[in-house]
Amino acid sequence: MTMSIWRKFVLSMITLAVSLGLAACQANGVQNVAAVEFGEPAQEAAAADTENQISQAALAEVPNSQEEPLQFTFPTPAPPPVTLWRPPLYEVPWALSPHDHFYFTRPIAADEVNWPLADYRYGDYFTGTDIVHTGIDIPAKRGTPILAAADGVVTWAGWGLYRGTNDQDDPYGLAVAIRHSFGFDRRQLYTIYAHMDRVDVSVGQQVRAGEQLGVIGTTGFTTGPHLHFEVRVERNSYFVSRNPELWLAPPQGWGVLVGRLMKSDGSPIHRLDATVRSLDTQRTWGVRTYAPASVNPDDFYRENLVLSDLPAGNYTITFKYNENSYQYDFSIKAGAVTYFSFRDRSGFSSGLPATPAAPDDYLPSTEN
Ligand SMILES: [Zn+2]
Repeated sequence: MTMSIWRKFVLSMITLAVSLGLAACQANGVQNVAAVEFGEPAQEAAAADTENQISQAALAEVPNSQEEPLQFTFPTPAPPPVTLWRPPLYEVPWALSPHDHFYFTRPIAADEVNWPLADYRYGDYFTGTDIVHTGIDIPAKRGTPILAAADGVVTWAGWGLYRGTNDQDDPYGLAVAIRHSFGFDRRQLYTIYAHMDRVDVSVGQQVRAGEQLGVIGTTGFTTGPHLHFEVRVERNSYFVSRNPELWLAPPQGWGVLVGRLMKSDGSPIHRLDATVRSLDTQRTWGVRTYAPASVNPDDFYRENLVLSDLPAGNYTITFKYNENSYQYDFSIKAGAVTYFSFRDRSGFSSGLPATPAAPDDYLPSTEN
């Protein structure tokens, strides 16, 4: 178990006054939403500079330990919720490989739907626009409790997460941000919870995994009640989101498909529709590669396609590219990531991405 390589380290306490976020969400079954126009965040440049300074200051305080970049502290594992129609989740933090980081439990209780809306995943366009989704949406009834995905401190609670002001027209509506009490790869982690009907926490409050933050609503830019959930790495900014499906613990016995689909020159293929089919049950899932902007692949996998919550078993993925049809068979293993890459004219590979060279490799030799 990879727990053994995680060592406790002290994360510097930083407070970011401004959160730059972008949420354009749709609820389940609601179509034909009006296009929403966003302006560029006015404080973007200044805030980015400030964040860079803070982030460098924060990094400077992190113990120098180049031999173990994957440092991690997680003081209180959360009890796995129970559901009647899905297996219980793996207990967080869950990671079968040093590249994985399923550190968060679902922000909606297990007796409700607590998985992403399938047709509006991370990296997809908001219907009828080119606004890219920087989180996942979990549909739920108004008033459903929203739960902290892990321990941490509340750094935003209320209106204005996107604009940084107490603005009731803010696209996130009533929202909460949590800075977690642990990190990954020596970097801070944040989670975002948006469109609440009511916020039950305040800035500075310490929260535990599973603690209620508020309830589901329709505040901000939404077409129906749901939770918009984001994971942000290193700082609380719209620009550093990651795919939450790579951070939320899977149901026990289920796994996650991660793909990197590239053109012949190695650049990512954007917005390619693919179909995943279970060879065991014949059930199918639709999934689409990321749009070109505003999303960030995982630092290790460099993916542009993720499909979580797949029961362990045998599958095939099919898609068309440049008039050709492609098919790739793969297996999903319990609690694990199954990775594949595709490159036009080269085909498929199950080989993991090359790990970046360790920092030590760049140090000048001291031998004479
Ligand atoms: Zn959303």
